Amino acid sequence: MTDRVYIFDTTLRDGEQSPGCSMTVPEKLRMARKLVELGVDILEAGFPIASEGDFEAVEAVSREFPWAQVAALARCCTLDVERAARSLVHARRPRIHTFIATSPIHLKYKLKKSQEQVLEEAVAAVELARRHVDDVEFSAEDGARTEPDFLERISKAVVAAGARTVNIPDTVGYSTPKEYGALIGQIARSLGDCAIVSVHCHDDLGLAVANSLAAIEAGARQVECTINGIGERAGNCSLEEVVMILKTRSDSYPYHTGILTEHLFSASELLSSIITFGPQPNKAIVGRNAFAHEAGIHQDGYLKEKTTYEIIDPHSVGVPEGRLVLGKHSGRHALHQRCKELGFDLTREELDEFYHRFTAVADHRKKGLMDEEIVALLHQEKRALEAAAD
Ligand code: MN
Repeated sequence: MTDRVYIFDTTLRDGEQSPGCSMTVPEKLRMARKLVELGVDILEAGFPIASEGDFEAVEAVSREFPWAQVAALARCCTLDVERAARSLVHARRPRIHTFIATSPIHLKYKLKKSQEQVLEEAVAAVELARRHVDDVEFSAEDGARTEPDFLERISKAVVAAGARTVNIPDTVGYSTPKEYGALIGQIARSLGDCAIVSVHCHDDLGLAVANSLAAIEAGARQVECTINGIGERAGNCSLEEVVMILKTRSDSYPYHTGILTEHLFSASELLSSIITFGPQPNKAIVGRNAFAHEAGIHQDGYLKEKTTYEIIDPHSVGVPEGRLVLGKHSGRHALHQRCKELGFDLTREELDEFYHRFTAVADHRKKGLMDEEIVALLHQEKRALEAAAD
């Protein structure tokens, strides 16, 4: 048995609130269906006090997927918590996720409150949330830049008030794996079995996934993440990356999630079709080139034995066959193999001819050729041969 890590998806909340990622209620519902199919443990559907649309989204997701664990975000104040509770009335497993900033910089410039005031408001909000639902999560916003002893004190206080999950976000993406791991370790030790420690990392320094992994090793058992890593500024921890690291490197990380990884690619594609941008082509796991072996030497080795150049079977994350790109650096071996897979068994001479035609086109194509384009070329080749024979 390995330890279970819970996947808290915030694509529809933190992800949705970033530029170019706004979603309508029907779009959120389509995405929520995919996230449920993917097997996320907790689905954060919105911040109900923020807008009418967010309220409606949480309500609609709760109504459509009554057995999903749906979370609604709320600041630590009565109005927010009650609005969140109302949005969750249809959920059978509702979670109120309430947060307040705890770092000196946020207390001084943003909240203009003392640590004692913040602690009191956090406890009051958790107590109020518990009057509405059993499952309450507390987040110490800017936790990574908070004094560890205050963080420990507020964490213990909110757990005593009834929070089951304590989230320590690296809100501004400033922390490093060693530092963040040490902080999470301190909180996890002080809470023991009384609550689950959660992490929520941002990617401002490109460390969101590395910090989340360091936190898991230090005792965190919930990771907040998003599809394609979307989210505020540089985004959140990428769901597909953290899940596939735990799966691929289970020798180093003895933890498992409930994610059905075969749905990762389609979840990424669906999100890209709804928002205004997709992942960059070289994005790990779901990028267009993530499984493209273009250099002839790589393709030759790969075709002799996949594991020479491939550490993840693309089928295990649901990449359809036709998405593997062939480009101008592809060798004859790879082209021959692909033609066979597409139903064209070429003779040696035919392959030589066709290779010529293929590289002539591929030379001008920076993005390489997809299967349907290769098939079109094969048909052209066939017509040319027939014309020559006539
Ligand atoms: Mn965030």
